[in-house]
Amino acid sequence: MIGMVRDLSLRVGVTPTDGVLPAPPRVLIVDDEPKNLVAMQAILEGPDRELVCANSGEEALRHVLNGDFALIILDVHMPGIDGFDTAELIRQREQTRDTPILFITAAVRGEFAVSRGYSLGAVDYLLRPLEPDVLRFKVGVFVDLYRKTAEIRSQAAELARAEAFLTSVLQGATEHAIAALDTAGRIVVWNEGARRIYGYAHEAVAGRHVRMLFDDDAQGALPQALLKHVDRQGRAEGEFWQRRVAGGSFVARITISRREEASGAGGGYVFVSRDITAERQAEQARAELYQLREANAIKDEFLGIVSHELRTPLTMILGNAQSLGARFRSLPPDVVEESLREMTLNARRLQAMVESMLLLSHLETGHDVESEPVLVQRLVPGIVKDFGEAFEGVDIRLDIDGDLPPVEANSTYVHQIVSNLLSNAVKYGAKGSPIEVVATQLPDAVRVAVLDRGSGITEEEATRIFEPFTRLDRTQFQAAGAGLGLTVCKRLVSALGGTIGARPREGGGSEFSFTLRALDASKAGVAGALAGDIA
Ligand code: ADP
Repeated sequence: MIGMVRDLSLRVGVTPTDGVLPAPPRVLIVDDEPKNLVAMQAILEGPDRELVCANSGEEALRHVLNGDFALIILDVHMPGIDGFDTAELIRQREQTRDTPILFITAAVRGEFAVSRGYSLGAVDYLLRPLEPDVLRFKVGVFVDLYRKTAEIRSQAAELARAEAFLTSVLQGATEHAIAALDTAGRIVVWNEGARRIYGYAHEAVAGRHVRMLFDDDAQGALPQALLKHVDRQGRAEGEFWQRRVAGGSFVARITISRREEASGAGGGYVFVSRDITAERQAEQARAELYQLREANAIKDEFLGIVSHELRTPLTMILGNAQSLGARFRSLPPDVVEESLREMTLNARRLQAMVESMLLLSHLETGHDVESEPVLVQRLVPGIVKDFGEAFEGVDIRLDIDGDLPPVEANSTYVHQIVSNLLSNAVKYGAKGSPIEVVATQLPDAVRVAVLDRGSGITEEEATRIFEPFTRLDRTQFQAAGAGLGLTVCKRLVSALGGTIGARPREGGGSEFSFTLRALDASKAGVAGALAGDIA
């Protein structure tokens, strides 16, 4: 695993000494002559090192046991354990096997001594009398070498620590799949999270292109495009469908970024992915719950209004029925007649309300509307004719373009919309003024408008009268109504994919209009016997 992490070339800053300065390199000087020791000390003293003196082989060995030395300078000729023996003992210890030794001798006792010294690991010989500069220079080289070696060792330890840290982060991140890709997009590192999320072991993915993780029909076009994007922008992220080893897809939030090498060269990509299926489901459940609460609140409000609106006509009917029941014989016929008329009117109002509400609830359930090709120029005159027969004496004038394209509609719905608008124009229009029905062509639709010269409506009123139970104060006594007719019209029009609106009419009165979508030319051919004949 360490090898795999090395590949990531991630850099983590670790302070090597944690603020404590490393001890300076130590140099051990061994000589039985105190004056030699003093002289050498004087030559070698320096701020970057610590000098330790010993006047016998035994003492030197004791020092060696107690710590590391950058260099040991050994006088060859000493009573007791001589320099060579001391060196031999030093070499036998594992910890000091490689410590450099510099032998100092008054005179070289022949080739044998020299070669013995070298065989004991002497790095050099110096002859007395010593040349201070040469001694200083040589010792300086070893002190430097020791320091650099120590630095490299500590950097290596740092790297090992950083690697261990990264490995634990990488492997501990089990909620995230983390993979390193080479420059060709092939997987080289695969963490425990990736194994858990995708189900593949490292061996199963190593060297394979990252496209294997994408649920992409276009032969890996998407992952290729993502890697290209990273090449240009340095990073790509988004939510994509992924594939598991056991089959089955899931949505993951994915980030791919450039994998920088310490040298600055592009070293491939880092791929991080997280399965967000559960997150998505929770979001959806929250949204559904919210919608349900909303719907419930709307239903509650609607029920409140409905019960209030139903109570008024019911109270009227009940009141009239009670007084008729109690005093039927004693009441003059015209009062009885008025009571019965009021009861009928309110019963009709109740009936209209119940029917409108049933229709609204039917539309609420969101069932499909059966639409058919309809010719407005044929359908609307029929509706107007029917209406005129029911409301005798109403003057309705038609202004309908004969070349209107067929529209996508449902004749029963259109019948209901136009009848409602006409009935309002009669109720709230000016007596004696004609009602106009105009049908014109729009770019992709047909517009039908019903215009009257009544009390009219303002722009502000026009925005709210389509809401259930909205009745304008000024029309309260003009006609009885439940305030549901326009709501029904709005729902019917939107079920057909059209729009409805109202505005004040120039010269007084109001204009109510709705649009129906024109049938596209390819479907128009099917129209055959176009609806419109229903009237
Ligand atoms: P209703 O006619 O039963 O009250 P509607 O939903 O059809 O219910 O109309 C809502 C309100 O809009 C009416 O009460 C009336 O105030 C206003 N309104 C509708 N049509 C017209 C119109 N042609 N002119 C003026 N006001 C109208």
